[in-house]
Amino acid sequence: MTDSFESIFKDKNKILVVMAHPDDNEIVCGGIVARLIDEGKKVRVVVMTNGGKGMRDRTDVNEEQFAKIRLIEQKKAGVELGLSEDDMFNLNIADGELEDSLENIGKIVYHIREFKPDIIITHNPEEKINTFSEDTKWVNHRDHRYTATLVLDAAYPYSRDTAFFPEQLKNGLSPHCVGQFLMSDFYTHPDAKYFEVGKYLDKRRKALEKHTNGLDQEEIDSFMEEIQKENGHFETLRYLNTD
Ligand SMILES: [Zn+2]
Repeated sequence: MTDSFESIFKDKNKILVVMAHPDDNEIVCGGIVARLIDEGKKVRVVVMTNGGKGMRDRTDVNEEQFAKIRLIEQKKAGVELGLSEDDMFNLNIADGELEDSLENIGKIVYHIREFKPDIIITHNPEEKINTFSEDTKWVNHRDHRYTATLVLDAAYPYSRDTAFFPEQLKNGLSPHCVGQFLMSDFYTHPDAKYFEVGKYLDKRRKALEKHTNGLDQEEIDSFMEEIQKENGHFETLRYLNTD
């Protein structure tokens, strides 16, 4: 298992992370984001939904209150990784209600045209079932699938072509092409790449622990354990280069 950090990020300065829920950035790529910032890269995180339905069986808060709590937790967690408040966005779409719509493509196009990333990190758009190993599988959350689908559509062709969302261009933005992606939940894919984050374990755990209401300790421990490989700590993402 080799570290692909250098080979993939050496010629990139701006990394856009687009995730479905307020805790997904820390779960999917918290170590990578901390390492990118440490190495002087510019990272912007855009979260699609507010996570307001993640309270499970709790009855002491309603969806609106819970969403507010989760947005605060998203910011606190991002700060642990080294992000500034200006680098973090939440589109405040209702949890579980993200649709594959032109309107939502436009919201991501805006960030691509404004931030002009060299590569985008997002979820898995292809599978309804994620496979970590023969014994460990889970349903790929609908919000995750749709987030990744929206991201790929936003990147091509909607951010590039001036005929899409022309009102954005009148407001000072310009078209942008981005053709490289890293995607979560492709552990067994031939294009899975590994990113060593051993130096950033503390930051990763502290960031996960800021999601006091979104995650329980058992989940945090399992997310930390998941990245432990035989020769280090690696976050795993599938690399797609369409350039
Ligand atoms: Zn999620």
